[in-house]
Amino acid sequence: MMGALRTPPRMRIMIVEDDAALAAGVARILEGEGHAADVMKSGEHAILAATQESFDLMILDVGLPGLDGFEVLRRLRAQGSPVPVLILTARDAIDDRVHGLDLGADDYMAKPFAMAELVARVRALNRRGKAQSGPRLTHGPLELDTGARRAFLNGAPLELAAREWAVLEVLLGKVEKVVSKEVIIQAVASWGEDLSHNAIEVYVSRLRSKLEPAGIHIRTVRGFGYMLEEFSG
Ligand code: CA
Repeated sequence: MMGALRTPPRMRIMIVEDDAALAAGVARILEGEGHAADVMKSGEHAILAATQESFDLMILDVGLPGLDGFEVLRRLRAQGSPVPVLILTARDAIDDRVHGLDLGADDYMAKPFAMAELVARVRALNRRGKAQSGPRLTHGPLELDTGARRAFLNGAPLELAAREWAVLEVLLGKVEKVVSKEVIIQAVASWGEDLSHNAIEVYVSRLRSKLEPAGIHIRTVRGFGYMLEEFSG
């Protein structure tokens, strides 16, 4: 017998759609596929939820009251969110499609669509997401999936802003070694950007508030930089 395709693990999917009947229909189908689905009725709710919790996929309608789907996507990407996004829209203009993909969408579907096609695309995005998983860095209860750019603490998703992630990645590469602020700035700043030592202090302090409760300590080495201490449990 041929080796059966392994079913990718279930995903947590956010559906951003103000049409309640459509949102419920999509949620029902995806739940039938074994996924968990959360429905958000506005772009504002979607951004808030995406910054507070971790999702494997976002199905994002363009036509929303308030912030439209494009603006939601633009803000998420500006915040460094790597969540895969499937754009859903009644507007099938080629410009819209290009605009969505330019903003960082992973796929695009025009309404009306067949549920079977939506399910197939969600499956494809799920497989692609798994394929992008890269090397994992671990430190005690902390785990960074460097390919998918997702962090976990004690197995639960940990939300990190893009800059926090970058600082943590540098420190994780040099456990028990002091890393100067200059080195961190070089790793974190965009090209040509002037990032201050104070900014680095802010990112480190945010990281501490997220990691200290789990027993992970970033020590300050006065006048020089920081050191991620060996995890002692
Ligand atoms: Ca809509």
